[in-house]
Amino acid sequence: MYKRAVKDLTIHEIISAVDPATRIPYGVSRYYASLAENENPDSDPIAAQYIPRPQEQITLPEESSDPIADEQYSVSPRVIHHYHDRILILVNDRCATYCRHCFRRHFTGSSDGRISSGELDAAAEYLKKTPQVQEVLLSGGDPLMMSDRELSEVIIMLKNAVPGRRLLFRLASRMPVVLPSRITRDLVQTLSAAADKRLWVVTHANHPRELTPEFEQAVSRFVDGGIPVLNQAVLLRGINNSADTLEALFRGLIQMRVKPYYLFQGDLAAGTSHFRTGINEGLDLMDELRSRLSGMAMPTYAVDLPGGGGKIPLTRETVSQDGDAGYILKDRQGRVYRYPREQHAG
Ligand SMILES: *Cc1c(COP(=O)(O)O)cnc(C)c1O
Repeated sequence: MYKRAVKDLTIHEIISAVDPATRIPYGVSRYYASLAENENPDSDPIAAQYIPRPQEQITLPEESSDPIADEQYSVSPRVIHHYHDRILILVNDRCATYCRHCFRRHFTGSSDGRISSGELDAAAEYLKKTPQVQEVLLSGGDPLMMSDRELSEVIIMLKNAVPGRRLLFRLASRMPVVLPSRITRDLVQTLSAAADKRLWVVTHANHPRELTPEFEQAVSRFVDGGIPVLNQAVLLRGINNSADTLEALFRGLIQMRVKPYYLFQGDLAAGTSHFRTGINEGLDLMDELRSRLSGMAMPTYAVDLPGGGGKIPLTRETVSQDGDAGYILKDRQGRVYRYPREQHAG
């Protein structure tokens, strides 16, 4: 059956039936596709991340195209200011491989392209008038779909807008996982120089099979070049929701000098219910991992609260059960949020 589904037409049929507001394109690098052992997204953890399944067409009532409320915290086009001392800039909407579990579905692959010079000027103006901002996250889409020069010009422009501030940059990119050859020595040197060495990279590996020699070379180039690398994984049903898989992922990452930073509970993004696990399962997995791994290898299990509540760690203390309805989560101010019980489309 999936022999057919991998043909363009059938993938096209699947995607074209998805609501355009929540649809993300189909696209995969040759390299990433080569990591799949077969092209059946129901059984291969790599294929599942890039081959659309018919369940993408199903949007549950609790799901949305903007589950973490980027729009609510948008302070100028492409600039999201949600947390006190840091802003996030959507510098580009393209990716080298489109993750089927993408949570930024209102933006990724929306054809808005890269940030315009007018939008960049507005971002710089916002930085100037907002002195508490010390850190700029460059995200998207994947910022490394831009050329070395384009991206370093963005960094230099923002840095020069606030010369008195020691601005820190954080680059969010899945390139080390999906197109590691993008990480050249030139790129590392150019970005590090542009940011005056104040640059961190956050990448996104979800499965130990993604930790290839090519991935290791890419992250080593950053680390050897003085740029620390962190990883944000997403807990994904049928892909990495087992203690053995997560142990191999986190152990492999620290062996390659990449610090596991977050393990995210799936956001309530439209058409992604087939990827989500229960929060109880995540808590059990974290307990098991803590007995197997060093503290350094442990990420923070976290969720971006639905409705714009922001990121909170998920622990036995912050999660309580809400009967059949799901879970009750508390943020730092003690405000209460509901996260629905897992239910899977299809
Ligand atoms: C996740 C996120 C950040 C970064 O949060 P950290 O906890 O510092 O990793 C910043 N801005 C926005 C809008 C985010 O969604």
